[in-house]
Amino acid sequence: KLKNLERLKGKENITQSGRRIDVCANIGTAEDIDNVLRSDAGGIGLFRTEYLFMDPSGRTPTEEDQFQVYRRAAETMGAQPVAIRVADLGDDKQPTCMDLSEDSGFGYRGIRVLLDKEEMLMTQLRAILRASAYGNVKIVFPLITSEEEVGLLKQYVEKAKEALDYDKVDYNKKIQLGAMIETPAAVMLSGELARELDFFSIGTNDLTQFTLAVSRDNQKAAGYYQQNHPALLKMIRIVANNIHLEGKRISICGDMAADLEMTEFFIKIGIHELSVAPPSVLGLRKKIREIQ
Ligand code: PEP
Ligand code: MG
Repeated sequence: KLKNLERLKGKENITQSGRRIDVCANIGTAEDIDNVLRSDAGGIGLFRTEYLFMDPSGRTPTEEDQFQVYRRAAETMGAQPVAIRVADLGDDKQPTCMDLSEDSGFGYRGIRVLLDKEEMLMTQLRAILRASAYGNVKIVFPLITSEEEVGLLKQYVEKAKEALDYDKVDYNKKIQLGAMIETPAAVMLSGELARELDFFSIGTNDLTQFTLAVSRDNQKAAGYYQQNHPALLKMIRIVANNIHLEGKRISICGDMAADLEMTEFFIKIGIHELSVAPPSVLGLRKKIREIQ
């Protein structure tokens, strides 16, 4: 069976009737980068950088540490895109290199933490920007709920660029910026956000928990965590429409992207890219080629 899947390598992700969709891979560590190559994915659709801050040693990754990892991802993928998400720490993802536990609890997470920790955000933005000189790097912001946040984050990116200009360090001046659509607020504002950013990725894991009011790890309520809930499908459809109206790019990078029962729906509503864990890449590509 594995041999059969291997035969898909190098082939296009195209349905029987000629509709195309990109299949990328999600990664969390530098070690995953080689798995992406093995899976023959079309790029890295989501690099969850928070794992760099969760090292058992408790060491804080410096700009240089981060740059080395991001550059390796960029160089390894060549012309293919690498979407690097700034650290999504807090709540269930506690860093080892600093103590957020006192602030933790529902909702203090993602860019909310970074907007309070300016130095950490600037260090990471500089590292990502520097890596953008070595490949097709993009920046993704997690847990967006407002246009104001996007405005602020864009200012920080500009500040990081100016600092690099001053230091005469190379980076991609046209680096693309995107947001995770993973809160109902971002769904409702997706039309407005689409005017501010270049691309969007629906984080169905968080969108499910925030829409259906059930935490991702509540065992007792697990039955309510339904990824095929009609309210969720409706939201995904709304987001796709709003992003299409602005001619921007839309992907899905939550676990739902790997659900082969959903693939046809995603293609039908014009999702441009699905990003899944490396072991799911080839199976998904096979499914796409079977669809009418
Ligand atoms: C998501 O929420 O669907 C997602 C892709 O991000 P994470 O699982 O890292 O929260
Ligand atoms: Mg998420």
